Amino acid sequence: MRKKLFIPGPTEVRDEILQAMATPMIGHRSSAYAELHQRVEEKVKKLLNAERRVFLFTSASTGVMEGALRNCVGKKVLNTLNGEFSRRWYEIGKTCGIPAGTVEVEPGKAVTPDLVDAALATGEYDTLCLTYNETSTGILGPVPEIAKMARAKYPDVLIMVDAVSCMAGTPIDFDGWGLDVCLAGVQKCFALPPGFAVCAVSERAFERAKTVPNRGYYFDFIENEKYAVKFNTPATPGISFLYALDKQMDCMFAEGLENRYARHLEMAKHTREWGKARFGLFGEEKYLSPTITHILNNGFDFSALNKELGKRGAQISDGYGPFKGKTFRIGHMGDLTLADIKWLTGQIDDILKLN
Ligand SMILES: *Cc1c(COP(=O)(O)O)cnc(C)c1O
Repeated sequence: MRKKLFIPGPTEVRDEILQAMATPMIGHRSSAYAELHQRVEEKVKKLLNAERRVFLFTSASTGVMEGALRNCVGKKVLNTLNGEFSRRWYEIGKTCGIPAGTVEVEPGKAVTPDLVDAALATGEYDTLCLTYNETSTGILGPVPEIAKMARAKYPDVLIMVDAVSCMAGTPIDFDGWGLDVCLAGVQKCFALPPGFAVCAVSERAFERAKTVPNRGYYFDFIENEKYAVKFNTPATPGISFLYALDKQMDCMFAEGLENRYARHLEMAKHTREWGKARFGLFGEEKYLSPTITHILNNGFDFSALNKELGKRGAQISDGYGPFKGKTFRIGHMGDLTLADIKWLTGQIDDILKLN
């Protein structure tokens, strides 16, 4: 039985998009491919307001996170930590031998502009890593405010944003906020199958990359740009993903980006109200995520609940890492609707006999 995925990625993929994935193959050096690549690139640029450059990578987001670090950090990176996914960027850098410092707050809280300001004021850093939506705790950080502060006070510090679990679910103004790298895999709010990622790269970041040695091969911005100007990629791209993304971005613009973002907020509002009334929410209210809600588990058997939900055609997520069994998470992203979420919470009420 097909289970509707209310998990923070991969998310439910509509049949129309699954069918687009099955479009017959073309050669990746053909003009048909270049046209497809150009269409997709332009649509992603429009989504992000990223005038200059968007790379299309056939990879999980994690690969692009590693690539961004290897391309952009010349001196030392400041990692901002408030949960497991923001920690991942720090861990990736360590394995690449990239010098790093951290600012850390408790899970459920957000790293604030003044904390970042104090760390950058040491002058040690040339790159700042931010996690826009911390998926392990359902916290949307104040990225526009941090970027505004950093752009004004530290013009030479590159700002790199992991927007994996909120891009296409909440507004991102790449050029307006002065970001340098912003990346996401398509299996979350884009509602495509996993395995493909998009990444906006500023001129500042591109110029920095030219000065950084050992950028690696696959994600090398300089090498990728040589091909991207011809709407190609150095290695064979996941052509099926481009077909699906082309289709899906048309659907997004047809829905209207404002409507799409409003739909995410509406789903979040319902899930929060429901979760708060039944269990209690985890995390600082001011920063609650529009794409995922993190709810306390007051002692029910999570795997039994998810098993029963499975029989009824749905799946949700347990708490992540240290929160396993103590909290649970409902993803409301991509193409899910308020009706889907209301159905889901109704099923949980019924199973746990909450109403
Ligand atoms: C899902 C997620 C990732 C990892 O994405 P992959 O595509 O699996 O590599 C990274 N960061 C955040 C915030 C995420 O939600």
